[in-house]
Amino acid sequence: MNDRCLVCDSTDLEKLVRMFSKFLPRIWRWTAVCRQCGHVQLFPLFTEDEVETINEKFFLGKYVVGDNLSANKARKLEKLGSHLDKFIKNGMNVLDIGSGEAWALDYFSQHSSNYFAIESIDKFREYVKSSGGKVIGRDIDGDYSEYTDFFDIIVIRHLIEHLLNPIQVLKLASQLVKSSGTVFVACPNASHFSTKGGFRTSFLRPVHISYFSLDNLVRVGKSAGLECISSSANGELNCFFRCRDEKKGSDHRSGLNHYYEVKKLYNKMLRENLFQDLVKISKIYLRRIIK
Ligand SMILES: [Zn+2]
Repeated sequence: MNDRCLVCDSTDLEKLVRMFSKFLPRIWRWTAVCRQCGHVQLFPLFTEDEVETINEKFFLGKYVVGDNLSANKARKLEKLGSHLDKFIKNGMNVLDIGSGEAWALDYFSQHSSNYFAIESIDKFREYVKSSGGKVIGRDIDGDYSEYTDFFDIIVIRHLIEHLLNPIQVLKLASQLVKSSGTVFVACPNASHFSTKGGFRTSFLRPVHISYFSLDNLVRVGKSAGLECISSSANGELNCFFRCRDEKKGSDHRSGLNHYYEVKKLYNKMLRENLFQDLVKISKIYLRRIIK
């Protein structure tokens, strides 16, 4: 297996913990930790086709378009406001990459923003259009050159951990954001997390390719020509980036290595959640036998 670390490009990967999911092609799948930077990722990585199939299965029926009354949505909007209120001004150009259900559109509408989205799922794209937003593409690798240096704010929420090439989306953001603009990235925190629902059976999940620590999120930002200007790290990582003077970004190998810390934490989680995980795993196997 010649997988490379998605953060530092090293091949020095060590098997860490196996996850369990009914959505996986072979129910068990390894994660690995990079000995050079402490990044955790699926091992071996999926192919593009596998990612697509798993995402379709996993997310099928999970989203409801136009779910305006959902308490979950209200909570997410409030949280988004707490992060972006200090950056947003009326009339800004905003890009939501991986807009999903486009729930963030309400927040930006309140600020008279020009809302743009890149979204791969048909029904979500239709929703953006019918709600007054503009869809500029479906995939990250599209041609967006006409929007270079166009956006004041770019939002990449809970997307980067799903990607086989996380640096690519940040490079795109670096290209499309104005030099005075802000790129906001949010994703799960791999150094501090809840295991409610299970560790190997819920926190580790087939649709997540990567598990970022804050240092490694900052590092991939640097690789893409972005500089972290502020951040917070609870159960979720929230990072605000600006363009660096030079968009080359070749110093991504620098930074702290959390390898030992990560190994210790994941082994602890493995032990602490053993019973909960075993119960869940047994139930899934039983259901398969009964079927
Ligand atoms: Zn690495």
